[in-house]
Amino acid sequence: MSFALHGLSVSNGVAIGHALTISAASLDVTHQFIASGSEEQEVVRLQQAFELAMQELHDLKDRLPEDAPEEMSAFLDVHRLILEDIDLRQKPEALILKRRYNAAWALTTVLDELLLAFEEIDDPYLKERGADFRQVIERVLYALNGSSELSLAPLYQKLDRQSADAIIVAQDIAPHDMMRFKELNFCAFVTDFGGKNSHTAIVARSLDIPAAVGVKHASEIIQQDDLLIVDGDKGIVIVDPSPMILEAYRQRQAEIKFSKEQLQLLKYTPTKTIDGQQITLMANIETPEDAPDALDSGALGVGLYRSEFLFMNRKGGLPEEEEQYRAYVKTIEAMYGLPVNIRTIDIGADKNLDNADHKLSSNISPLGLRGIRWSLSEPEIFLTQLRAILRASAHGKAQILIPMLAQAHEIELTLELIGEAKRQLEQRQQAYNTDIKIGAMIEIPAAALIMPLFLKYFDFVSIGTNDLIQYTLGIDRADNAVAHLYDPLHPAILKLIYDIIQAAKKENIPVSVCGEMAGDSQLTRLLLAMGLTDFSMHSSQLLTVKREILKAYIADLTQQLPPILSTYEPELLNALVTKLNQ
Ligand code: PEP
Ligand code: MG
Repeated sequence: MSFALHGLSVSNGVAIGHALTISAASLDVTHQFIASGSEEQEVVRLQQAFELAMQELHDLKDRLPEDAPEEMSAFLDVHRLILEDIDLRQKPEALILKRRYNAAWALTTVLDELLLAFEEIDDPYLKERGADFRQVIERVLYALNGSSELSLAPLYQKLDRQSADAIIVAQDIAPHDMMRFKELNFCAFVTDFGGKNSHTAIVARSLDIPAAVGVKHASEIIQQDDLLIVDGDKGIVIVDPSPMILEAYRQRQAEIKFSKEQLQLLKYTPTKTIDGQQITLMANIETPEDAPDALDSGALGVGLYRSEFLFMNRKGGLPEEEEQYRAYVKTIEAMYGLPVNIRTIDIGADKNLDNADHKLSSNISPLGLRGIRWSLSEPEIFLTQLRAILRASAHGKAQILIPMLAQAHEIELTLELIGEAKRQLEQRQQAYNTDIKIGAMIEIPAAALIMPLFLKYFDFVSIGTNDLIQYTLGIDRADNAVAHLYDPLHPAILKLIYDIIQAAKKENIPVSVCGEMAGDSQLTRLLLAMGLTDFSMHSSQLLTVKREILKAYIADLTQQLPPILSTYEPELLNALVTKLNQ
C-alpha cells in the first residue's frame, strides 16, 4: 500500500530507490564469513561475550544504589533471564557452525528475526518487550567488540555492495558519520530526527543528493528494501508508490537533470549582476578532498573550511601539527592560489570529538565550551593548529577564521595566541605568511551588536547565519521539534545581518555570509539588496545562486529593501520577499 511520510527538506532533488534501513544494532556489525575450521573458536568467542554480558548485569545489580527504584532490579533480572535463554544462545551458534557467519552477524540475524516476531504481537505490553531483547543483544555485541563502542565498518561494506539506488533510512546520523558516507554509494537518505540546519544536514547538502530529515518514525515504518521516492524539495517520502506517481517523479527527475546540465553552462560566466556589480562566490568545504569540487564549480576560493572534521571521530588521538599542516597545504594547493579561510576548530553542539583519549570528548552544549571557547581552554591544541595553518600559509593564500567569538577578552586572547604561534615558528625558523589575514565569524548576536570592536581587530568578517539564527531565536538548530521556528526571515535576523554588512562596509572591511542562507537561492536577492557582495556555500549550490545573481538588478533590489526591513508581520514580509524574487 502506498503512503507518504512528511519531514523537512534538507537537500533538493528527487531520488527513487530501495530502502536500506539501519537499525541501531545492525548499523554497527561486521558481516563476514569466518574461515573454515574456525567455527568452534567463534562459538567460544560468542559464549565468552555472553558470559561477559552476564557478569556486567551482575555487577550492575550489585552496584545499584540503595535508593534505586525497585523496578530497576527487576529489569536487570529480566535481562539476565533473557541472556540465559537457551534459544538465544543456540540459534546464533547454529548460524556460526552451519553458515560460518561471524558471531556478531549471527547475533543480529537472530535479533532481526526476534524483532519481527515482536512487531506482529498485538498486545502492546508484550510488543514493547522486543526492546529488552534488543538491549540485551546489544550488550553482547559490545562485549564481542571488547569496547563500549562499535564500528561503522559493516555499514560501509553493505553500501559498497549496494547498487547506487540505496536510500539510507536511519533514526539519526551523526555529522562525522555523514562525512564518512561521502565515499559510499547511495542516492538519498531519510532520518527520523534532525533539523534543517544541523551539521548533519549541512554535510548532506554537500553530497548533493535528495534528503529528508525529521521524518518521524520513518526508520520504524519503512521496511528493508521498500521502494521509496524521496522528494527532497518538499521533504516527503513516498513508500511503495503507485506506477502513476512513480512515472510522474521519473519525469521530474529528468527535468531536474536537464536543468542541472543547463546550469553547468554558467560555470565560466563572470558573476555579475545586470547592472555590473561584481559578486564573489566561494565554497564551504569540510575536507581537503572537497577542494577540487569547489574549484570545479567555479568558486573563487574557500570561504569556510570547517577544520573540525579533521579532529572528529578519530581512534588514536587528535591530529598532530604535521598531519594538520599536510591537510591544509593539500587544500591550499588544490585551490591554486585562491584564498582559503581555514576556520579553527569549532567543536561542540552536534559536532563531537568522540575521542576516547580526550577529556572533553563529547556532549558540549551549543551554549557550552564550543568553538573558540574550547580552543582557548586548550591552548596547546589551539597553538598546534595555529602553527599548522601558519606554516601552510607559506604555500598559498591561507587565512585564519575564528568561530564563536563574542567577548573582547576572547578576541584579545586569540590574537595573543596567534602572535605566540608566529613567534614559535620564528624560533624554529619555519616559514609563514607574515601578512596572513585573520577573520572572525559573526554568529553570536552579541558579536553582531558590537561590530566596531570586531572591525577594529579583524581583517575580514564572515556571518555564520546558522548559529546567528540559532542563538538569536533561541532555537536548537539540530532539533526538529523546533525546526518550524527556525526562520531566516525573522525580522530580528534580517536586521542583524543588514547591520553587520553595513557596519563592515562603512569601515571597508570585507564581509561575507558563509551560513546556509548564502546557498539558498530564494534568499540571494535579499542578501544582494542588503549590500552583500561575498557569498560562501557548498559547491553544489553555487551555480543556482549564480543564476539568480546574473538576473539581478541591484538598484531595483535596494529600492525594495526598506519596507522589508521595517515589516514585522510574517505574511507581509514573505509577500515582500516573494515580490523581490520576481
Ligand atoms: C554558521 O554558523 O552559520 C556557520 C557557517 O558555521 P557552522 O554551520 O559550522 O556552525
Ligand atoms: Mg557556526
